[in-house]
Amino acid sequence: MNFDIHEEIKLVEKEIVNWRHELHKIPEIGYELQKTVSYITKQLDEMVIPYTTMCDGSGIVALINPGCEKVLALRADIDALPITEKTGFEYASTHPGKMHACGHDFHTASLLGTAKILKKHESELKGTVKLIFQCNEEGAGGTCGAKRMIEEGVLENPKVDSILGMHVASIDKLPGGSVFYKVGPAMASNDKFYIKLIGQGAHGSTPHEAIDPISMACHVVQDLHTLRAMEIDTLSPAVITVGTLRAGDGAFNVIPGYAEIIGTVRTFDNTLRPYIKERIENIVKAAAAAHNGHYEFQYDFVCSALCPTNTETQNLVAAAQKCLGPQSVICFPAPIMGSEDFAEYLQEIPGTFFYLNAPAKIDGICYPAHSSKFALGEEFFSSLRIKHDKLKLRCNRRNCSRCGCPVPHGRPPYISR
Ligand SMILES: [Zn+2]
Ligand SMILES: [Zn+2]
Repeated sequence: MNFDIHEEIKLVEKEIVNWRHELHKIPEIGYELQKTVSYITKQLDEMVIPYTTMCDGSGIVALINPGCEKVLALRADIDALPITEKTGFEYASTHPGKMHACGHDFHTASLLGTAKILKKHESELKGTVKLIFQCNEEGAGGTCGAKRMIEEGVLENPKVDSILGMHVASIDKLPGGSVFYKVGPAMASNDKFYIKLIGQGAHGSTPHEAIDPISMACHVVQDLHTLRAMEIDTLSPAVITVGTLRAGDGAFNVIPGYAEIIGTVRTFDNTLRPYIKERIENIVKAAAAAHNGHYEFQYDFVCSALCPTNTETQNLVAAAQKCLGPQSVICFPAPIMGSEDFAEYLQEIPGTFFYLNAPAKIDGICYPAHSSKFALGEEFFSSLRIKHDKLKLRCNRRNCSRCGCPVPHGRPPYISR
C-alpha cells in the first residue's frame, strides 16, 4: 500500500469520534441490536461497502476488495452491558439500564474508520478484507456471538485465512496509546454453571419435617472450593467462583423449598473444562442425595481460552512497532483470568488479538471495564498520531528472562468480562 496511514487517520479521526458518541448513546444488549446494526449499515452504505447480516440481523459481515486469494478478517464486537451509566458525559446512554461499559462502541467506530480508509485504497490492497461486526460478545443468554456467527458461516464464503481483533482498556499506570499482546494462552476460558438444589419447605420450628436445601447448598459451595484446591494441578491455573447463592425470601422462620447457586469456571487449559463440569455435577448429585433432595444442573461452555497464534502475533508486533515505536508495543507479563469470545475464532483459524490502552479518569480514577463510570481517552482512537517520544516507559528488569518485554512486571492489566 502506497499511502501514508498517519495522514489518512487524520482525515477520519473526527468522524470516528462522532461515530463512537452516536453509538455510545444507543447501547443495546446480546442479540437485540436493531439500532446499532442500522447505524453501522448506514455508514457502510455511505462508504459503498457491500455487506450481509446474520444471527437474525444482529451481526454484520462486509467485504472490501472481494475476490482475492487471501482473506484477512477484522472483528469488532458491537454489544453493550446491562449497566446504568454514571459517567455524566453529554453523549451518555439514552437507554435506561444499558451502557457501553466495555468499549465496544470504541471498537465499532475504529473498525468503521478502518473500513473507510481501506475502501478508499481498495485497488491497492493485495487481499480481501472481511469486516465482522459481531453481536453478543458479552455472552448474554448463554451462547456467545462469536460461536453463533461461526456456526452461521462467518469464516466461510470467502474462507478466512487469518483474523485480527482488538480490545480497549483504561489503565492509568501504563502509557496511553500502547499496545499489549501475548501469544496464547492470553486469556481464560469462561464457563457458567447453574445449580438448583430442591428440598422440602417447612416451618422453621420443625426442621425434621423439611428437606433443607440450604444445608445442601453449603456442602456444594465448600466442595467446589475443595475441587479447585485438591483436584486441579496447581501449575494449571483455574478459578471456580460462586457469584450467586440464593435461598428463601428473607423470612427468619421458614425453611425454603430450594436454593440456587450460579457461578463461573475459568482456566487456560481447554481440555480441563469437561472434567470440571463432570466433577461439579458429581458434587451436586452427592449433596442432594445425602440430604434426600433433588437437583437441576446446567453448564454452559461460553467461550474457550484465548490462544493467539505465533506467526500472526509476530506480524502484528512488527507492524505495530513500525507504526508506534517499539516502546509502545508490550508483551503481557502473564495471561489473565478475564475472557474474550474472540477465542472461538482462534479455535478455527490462525489469528491474533491485542489490547490498546486508552486511559481516561472520572473523579481522578481510571474505572475498569464493566464499571458504570468506565471512560476512554478519545485522543487514543488514533494512537498512531501520539508523539511516542513522549511516552515514558522504563524497564526495571532489563532483558527480562520471562518474556523480554521492556516494561516492569507485576499484576497484568485489569481486563474483565
Ligand atoms: Zn469487551
Ligand atoms: Zn466486557
